Amino acid sequence: MRLVTYDGNRVGKVVDDGMIDLTALVGLGGMARLIADWEALSPEIDEYSGSAVPLGSVRLEAPVPRPGKIVAAPVNYTDHQEEMKQKGDVSHLGFFLKAPTSVLRPGGTIQLPYTDRRFDNEAELALVIGRRCRNVPETDALSVIFGYTCLLDITMRGGEDRSARKSFDTFTPLGPWLVTPDEFGDPTDAELTCVVNGQTRQKANTGQLIWGVARLVAYMSSVMTLEPGDVISTGTPAGVAPIEAGDQVTAAVSGIGELTVDVAADHAGPCPTLGAGSGPVPPPPPPRAHAPQRDDG
Ligand code: MN
Repeated sequence: MRLVTYDGNRVGKVVDDGMIDLTALVGLGGMARLIADWEALSPEIDEYSGSAVPLGSVRLEAPVPRPGKIVAAPVNYTDHQEEMKQKGDVSHLGFFLKAPTSVLRPGGTIQLPYTDRRFDNEAELALVIGRRCRNVPETDALSVIFGYTCLLDITMRGGEDRSARKSFDTFTPLGPWLVTPDEFGDPTDAELTCVVNGQTRQKANTGQLIWGVARLVAYMSSVMTLEPGDVISTGTPAGVAPIEAGDQVTAAVSGIGELTVDVAADHAGPCPTLGAGSGPVPPPPPPRAHAPQRDDG
């Protein structure tokens, strides 16, 4: 099943010709309620057939608009480790946290905060936890996953702590919906791409993850209790490059769909911290594709 949050806190299921409102079944508790009561609700939701409305007629929100936490893997593809000239990978670095307030809806706009820093695309496969768990063995780890979605881990380059560089408001676009594990299939064989202004920057298969989904969940749950709605992001492959105001960024994962957002810098000013010249060194920027023309200028 494909499950959306839309028009605030409403939830729906995506069908061939649009989306069916599930409010009659789920109430107004949103995706949190749906995840909490999934065992009881899923047979009814599966059979429920209301009238579908076009997806374009509703405002999609991030499927989990305000997760309890966002836990993310650094350096989890070998080609990204090489492009960043990093000595260590996820095995040495563990994980980092992104602020829950950094989540952005599909179709939203990333706001770059500074005029004098580099900000990069990082497309990633993300998963959402379905039940409260701690110390989950790797062999059981897939059973605590409620669903999968696309995530952009927008990143300021430099020497500041990752949690600061990646937690600006709007820096975690998430969506366009959650795909349940039965429909998503094998998380070790999904194609991941990132396209900026029509130009493909990142292309990988999740089979190339250094730590796969199950190992990440097992490890993260050995450190902290994972709760329903928590988001785990699995890391990004090679192809990180600067994004600028006017760009359009699309992350896509096979079996899920596409997450597209715009980029702006409406209130950007000088950066107050001094990490620009330190930290992991990103690859030189590739030639830029032109940003899309817009009717509204
Ligand atoms: Mn990342």
